[in-house]
Amino acid sequence: MGEFDLIERFFANSAKRPDVVLGIGDDAALITPPENHQLVITTDTLVEGVHFFADIPPAALGHKSLAVNLSDLAAMGAEPRWVTLAITLPSARMEWLEQFCQGFFELAEYYNVTLVGGDTTRGPLSITVTAHGVIPMEQALTRHQAQVGDWVYVTGSLGGSALALRHLQGQQRLSSEILEVLLQRHYYPQPRVLSGYGLRGVASSCIDLSDGLWADLGHVAKASGCSAKIQVNQLPIHPQVKLQCQNDDAIALALCGGEDYELCFTVPEAMKGSLDVALSYSGIEHCCVGQMIAGQGPVELWQGEQPYTCCHLQGWDHFS
Ligand code: ADP
Ligand code: MG
Repeated sequence: MGEFDLIERFFANSAKRPDVVLGIGDDAALITPPENHQLVITTDTLVEGVHFFADIPPAALGHKSLAVNLSDLAAMGAEPRWVTLAITLPSARMEWLEQFCQGFFELAEYYNVTLVGGDTTRGPLSITVTAHGVIPMEQALTRHQAQVGDWVYVTGSLGGSALALRHLQGQQRLSSEILEVLLQRHYYPQPRVLSGYGLRGVASSCIDLSDGLWADLGHVAKASGCSAKIQVNQLPIHPQVKLQCQNDDAIALALCGGEDYELCFTVPEAMKGSLDVALSYSGIEHCCVGQMIAGQGPVELWQGEQPYTCCHLQGWDHFS
C-alpha cells in the first residue's frame, strides 16, 4: 500500500465539520473561522522511546496524541475544532493503523474535532498533532495573570499516570486489576475541555498538568511574577496511589509524576463562590490545593503550618 492509498484508506474519509470548506486532499485545508473569535493553536509531538514504549497499544497512542493537544486547548479555555496529524511510521502495518485511528477518531468525534490535513512519512515512529481551537475575543485563559492571594485549584486526581509508568518501567509491580485502572490514566488521559469552558471569566490563570503540579504551577507563578504555596495534605491524590504507595511517595508522585493532564488554575477570592456552578456541568471534581503568594522563588510546599520537604522535586525536562 502506497502513501496515498494509506491516506485515502485511514485518514481522508473522516467526519467533517461544516466550517471545513476543504479538508484532506488539497494542498492545504480551507476553514471558515467564526466571527468575533480568536484562533488558539498548539502542537505536541510523541516520539517512540521518549514519550512511549514501542509496545504501546496503538489505540492508546492514537488517543493520547490527540488528547495531549486538546488538553493544551482546554487550558486556554478554547473550543477544539480542527487538527492536523503528521505521522512517521517505520512501516505500513494495517492492523496497527486501524487501531491507532480507532483511538484517534473516537476522541475526535467526541469533541466534534475534524482532521483537516497532515503528513505521512516513513521513519522512526513519531506522531505530531497540531490542534486549532476558537475562543470568544479576549476570553482566553493564560498563565500570566494570576495575582497574589488567588487560590490554586486542580481538577480530577493526581499521580495515577506516573504510578502506571513506574510499573511499565519495571520499578514497581502492580496487580493486574490496579494496573488496569492506572493504565487508563496513563494511556487514555481525558482532556478537561468542558472544565476549560467553565473557567472562562472565573479563573485568573490556567495550565494543564503535563510535567507535574509542582513544575507546572511554577510556570504559572513565574509568568505571573509571583510565587505559590501548595498544601500537600490537600492534594487530590489518586486513590490507588494512596493505597499502593507510602504517604511521602504518593505526595511526590502527585507533585512531580506528570502526565495527569488535569487543569491547574487560579481563582481570585471574589470569584471563589462562582466556581462550583462554573464547573458543575463538566462533571469533574475540583479541589483547592494552595494559594499564590508574593516572591520569586520556587513553589513552596506546606503541611499545615509546617514547611514540607520532598526529596526529588523536579518536573519533566527533555534537556536537563
Ligand atoms: P503535499 O505533498 O501537498 O504536502 P501530501 O501528499 O503530503 O500533500 O498529502 C496529501 C493530502 O493528504 C493533504 O491534504 C494532506 O493534508 C493529507 N494528509 C497526508 N497525510 C495525512 C495524515 N496523516 N492525516 C491527515 N491528512 C493527511
Ligand atoms: Mg506532504
